[in-house]
Amino acid sequence: MKKFKPSEEVDFVVIGSGAGGAVMAKQLAQAGFSVVVMEQGPWGAYGHEQDYNKDELINRFPSEEDMLMSDHAKQPNTFRRTAAEKAVAGHHSYGCVVGGGTVTYGASSWRHLPWEFNEASTFGTMAGTGIADWPISYDELEPFYTQAEWEIGISGPNVQNPNLAPMSKGYPMEPLPLKSSGFLFQRAAEKLNLSVVPNVAAIITKPWNGRAACINCGMCSGFGCQTKARSSSAVALLPYAVDTGNCEIRAHSYVREISTDASGKATGVVYFDKKNNNQEVFQKAKVVVLSANGTETPRLLLLSKSARFPHGLANSSGIVGKYLMTGNGGGASGLFTDPLNEYKGCVTGAAILDYVPNDVKGRGWYGGGRMTARGFTMPIAYGLGGVHGAPSWGKGYKQALIEQANRKLYVANFISQMPLETNTVDLDPDVKDAWGLPAMRITTQSHENDMKGVDFFIEKSVEILKAAGAHTVWADTARDSTGGAHARGTCRMGNDAKSSVVNKYHRAHDVPNLFIVDGSSLVTGGRNHPTMTISALAFRAAAHLVEAAKKGNVTI
Ligand SMILES: Cc1cc2nc3c(=O)[nH]c(=O)nc-3n(C[C@H](O)[C@H](O)[C@H](O)COP(=O)(O)OP(=O)(O)OC[C@H]3O[C@@H](n4cnc5c(N)ncnc54)[C@H](O)[C@@H]3O)c2cc1C
Ligand code: SF4
Repeated sequence: MKKFKPSEEVDFVVIGSGAGGAVMAKQLAQAGFSVVVMEQGPWGAYGHEQDYNKDELINRFPSEEDMLMSDHAKQPNTFRRTAAEKAVAGHHSYGCVVGGGTVTYGASSWRHLPWEFNEASTFGTMAGTGIADWPISYDELEPFYTQAEWEIGISGPNVQNPNLAPMSKGYPMEPLPLKSSGFLFQRAAEKLNLSVVPNVAAIITKPWNGRAACINCGMCSGFGCQTKARSSSAVALLPYAVDTGNCEIRAHSYVREISTDASGKATGVVYFDKKNNNQEVFQKAKVVVLSANGTETPRLLLLSKSARFPHGLANSSGIVGKYLMTGNGGGASGLFTDPLNEYKGCVTGAAILDYVPNDVKGRGWYGGGRMTARGFTMPIAYGLGGVHGAPSWGKGYKQALIEQANRKLYVANFISQMPLETNTVDLDPDVKDAWGLPAMRITTQSHENDMKGVDFFIEKSVEILKAAGAHTVWADTARDSTGGAHARGTCRMGNDAKSSVVNKYHRAHDVPNLFIVDGSSLVTGGRNHPTMTISALAFRAAAHLVEAAKKGNVTI
C-alpha cells in the first residue's frame, strides 16, 4: 500500500472507511488523486489472510483486533429523551473497523422511493417536525444507485412492484433464496392479500469480481463474512482504491479535529495514532472528506470549533447534530410446530412492502415501513433472551430452548422516523472518552405520530404470524429508539445555508474544501434502510468532486 508522510499535503483526507468514505476513497484514487483514509477502528480481516471470527463469544467480548463495533468502555455515549433531562450512560454503537458498518451489517440494500425525496411538497409538513424536500430528485440520483449496485455487488429481485423504486437497469444477480421465513410470509400474504418480495441485499449470489458467492453460513449480520460474499466496503471498494497506488488506509487513527486556517479553509486533520502511544499527528490535505457516520460526523464538527467557528465547524446554521433519525423498530414473534432451519443463510429474509407508502387517512399516522421475516438469533443471544413462556433457568428452561430455538419466527419492522430538530447529537459536558474528548450525547424522543406507527406494525406482525400458522404469538412492547447504527440526518443537505449544513454536492456551506458524505446528509430517513442511498449519494458526490478537482476548483 502506498504510504504518505503526514507532512506531505495529499489531495484528499477521507475520515471514515465505511459506506460513504470507501466510495469516496475509491473514486478519488481511481481519478488519480492522492488519498489518505483515516479509520479509528482496527483492520479487521482487511489485507490479512485470516478470516473474520465466527465465534459468538469472541464477538461479544472481542480483543482490540477482533473488535468490529465501537467500544463502549473507550467511547462511551450518554443518552436522554429531552434537553430538560440529565443524560445517563447510553448504548449507542456502530461499526468501527476498516469498512465501517458495512462489515457487520445485515446488508439490506433498498433504494429510497422517488417520493421519499420530496415528502414535504408531496404530502405536506407536520407541526413540530423538520420534514423537508431534498435538494435533489430521485431521477438525479438514479444513475448512481445503478452504479453503486453494480460496483458493490447487490442481489435482488427484478420484479415490478409499486413499492419498489423504478430502475434503469436491473440488479446484477438473482436474489438470495427464500428461507422458511419467506415461505411462511407467503402463506400469510396469500390470506391477507399482501405481497412478498425477496430481500435486496449487498450479498452476492454468484461469483462476482473475484469474490465467492454466499455459502449460507448463517453467522451473518453482526459478524464479518469469511467468503467475502457480503459486499462490504472492505472487500468491494477499498481494495480497488489501494490498487491504484494513490490511496493509503490508516487504521487505528482517531481524528480529533479538522483544522482550518485564518481564511476558514480546512488544512488537514489532527489524529491520535493509537498504535503509536496515541501520539497526535497532523495530516496535511488540500480537501477534507468527512464520512464518519450520522453520529460521529456531527460530533467531530462540534469538536473542531475554533475562534473562527465558535459553534463548531460548518455550523453557522446551528443545525449540526440536529434532526437525528435512528429509526424505529418493533414487531412480534411466533412459534411453529415444524422446525424452520432458519440458522442457514443471512439473517434478513423476505419482505412485505405493502405498508411502505404513506396512508395518513387510512392509518391515522404519517409514514410507513418494511416488514422483514427473520428466524434466527445466535445461540448465546437466544439462550439469554429467546425462550418464551418458560422459566429462565433449570430443566424447564432447557426444554423450552430445545423446543423453541429452531421453531421461532420474528417479524422485524423498519419503520420511518420523522426528523425533529430536538433530536440531536452533541457533546456531553461531563463525560469524556478514553482520549479525554467530550463523549457523544444523544437526545432523542420520537414524535407521537411515529409511536403510532410502531403500534401499527406490531399489530400487523401479530396478524401475519397468526395467518402464517404460528401456534403461539407474542408482541413486542412498543419502544422508542435510543440510538443505533442507522443514524441519519445530522448534517442535512439543502440549498439554504441557514437551514442545512451541506449543499446538493455535499460541500459544507461554510467551509469550501470540506465535504460531508455519509448518513448525516440525508434529509428524511426513508423507510429506515439507509445504506444503499448513502452509497449512491457518495458516487454522485465523488463524480462531481472529481470533475471539479480536475478543473482545479473544488469550491464549485
Ligand atoms: C449490525 C448492523 C446491521 C445493519 N444492517 C443494515 C442493513 O441491513 N441495511 C442498511 O441499510 N443498513 C444497515 N446497517 C447500518 C449501516 O451499517 C450504516 O447505515 C452504514 O454503514 C453507514 O454508513 P456511513 O458511511 O454513514 O458510516 P459507517 O459505515 O459507520 O462508517 C464510518 C466510519 O468512520 C469511522 N470513524 C468515526 N469517527 C471517526 C474518527 N473521529 N476518526 C476516524 N474514523 C472515524 C468509524 O469507525 C467507521 O468505520 C447496519 C449496521 C449494523 C452495525
Ligand atoms: S450468510 Fe453468506 S453473506 Fe452472510 S456471512 Fe455467511 S457467507 Fe457471508
